[in-house]
Amino acid sequence: MNYHSLAPTTLLSPVPVALVSCADGEHPERKNLLTVAWTGTVNTTPPMVSISIKPSRYSYGMIRDSGEFVINLVDRNLCRAADFCGVRSGRDEDKAEALGLVWREAEGMKAARAVDGAPVSLSCRVRNHMEMGSHDMFLGEIVSVSVREDLMDAQGGIHLERAGLVAYNHGLYQALGQVLGFFGYAVARPEKLTARLRAAGAGTYVLKSARFLAADYLRSVLTEGDRAIDATVGNGHDTAMLCRLVGEAGHVYGFDLQEQALDATRKRLKGERLEKRATLWCMGHEHMGEMIREPVRAAVFNLGWLPGGDHQVTTRTETTMTAVKQALKLLSPGGMLVICVYPGHPEGKRERKALEEWMTSLPAREFNVLAHCFLNAGDDAPRCYGIQRNT
Ligand code: SAH
Repeated sequence: MNYHSLAPTTLLSPVPVALVSCADGEHPERKNLLTVAWTGTVNTTPPMVSISIKPSRYSYGMIRDSGEFVINLVDRNLCRAADFCGVRSGRDEDKAEALGLVWREAEGMKAARAVDGAPVSLSCRVRNHMEMGSHDMFLGEIVSVSVREDLMDAQGGIHLERAGLVAYNHGLYQALGQVLGFFGYAVARPEKLTARLRAAGAGTYVLKSARFLAADYLRSVLTEGDRAIDATVGNGHDTAMLCRLVGEAGHVYGFDLQEQALDATRKRLKGERLEKRATLWCMGHEHMGEMIREPVRAAVFNLGWLPGGDHQVTTRTETTMTAVKQALKLLSPGGMLVICVYPGHPEGKRERKALEEWMTSLPAREFNVLAHCFLNAGDDAPRCYGIQRNT
C-alpha cells in the first residue's frame, strides 16, 4: 500500500472528549468548564489520568491553584456543550450558565463540581504538573467516580455501551456506534462469543413495527441544524425524537387538532429541555403549506387516532392527502417524507388506498418511494412508507 509521509503532528485518533470542570480555590463560586482532548489514563493503582492545558487558558490557574478538577464524559446530549466549552473562554462569560448546565456535588472535591447529566464524572486531585511545551500536563489521581444510574445494572455492572459516548476524531466529534467485540473476544470460545456480543447489543435489530422503521428513517436523514415536521404530534414521542435529532441549531414544526395532545407534548418537551426547538400549532396539518415557508429535511405522519385518546378524532383521507402533498413540496433534496398508516379501521383503509395510488404515480426520476408491509400479518397490519426527494 502507498502512504503519505507528513510532518510530525498529533494524529493519535480517536481521543476522548473530556468536559473538565474546575473552580477557583479562593472564590469557590467562580467555576469554569473547559474541553480537553489531550487526556488519558496513565496508571491503574492508584487510578490516575492526565489532562494537558495551555497555560493561557482561564482554567489553567484555577486547576493549578485549587489542585483539583472533575472529568465529565461526553455523550450526544453534551456534545454541543463540549464544543462550546472548547472555543469560548470563561474569562468572558459563565459557560455553565450560557449552556443551561446544572452543577452536581462531586465527592472528594472542595470547590469543583460535576456536570449533572454527564454519563460519568471522575473527581481528580492534582498529584503532579509538568511543562511539556505548548501545553502543561496535570496528573490527577481519581478520588471518586459517579456513574449515571441508567448506565448501571442490578448487579452493579457498568454499561457504557448504552451511553452514546462521543469521541474526537481529527476535528470531528463522532458518536461511538457498533459493538465489534469485547475484551478477550479474539480468544473466546465460539459458543460464548456471539451470545456475549448480542448481550452487549450487537446484531439485535428487531423488525418490530411500522413506527420503528419510521424512526430509523428519521435518524438516518436528520442531523444538527435541520428543519423537520411532525404532522401528527399526538403524545409527542416523535416530536421529542425529532427535537433531539435536529439539535439546538435546528427546529421542529408540529401540528395536531387536539389541545390535550399539544399540552402533553409541551410537557414532555419541557421535561427534556427541548421546548425551544419546537413550534407547535393546534391546527390541521393540511395548513402546513401556509405555515411553513422554508424547506425541511424530513416530515413524519403517524396517522390514525391518538393512542389512549378519542377514537373519533382520527386523521381523514382528504386532509391527509392535501397535507402529504404539501409536505412533499417542502422537502429539500435528499429530504424524506415518512408515513405510517393503520388500515385496521375503515378510514385507515381509505388512507392506505389513496396514499398508495398517489405514491405509485410519483415520478421515479424525482422520488425514491419504498413501502414496508408485514406480508404475513393480514390486510389490516400497519404499513410504513419512505419517500425521498432525490433532486
Ligand atoms: N405521533 C404521535 C401519535 C399520533 S396519533 C406519537 O408519537 O405519540 C395521530 C394524531 O393525529 C392524533 O393526536 C390526532 O389528534 C392528530 N390528527 C388528526 N387529524 C389531524 C389533522 N388534520 N392535522 C393534524 N393532526 C391531526
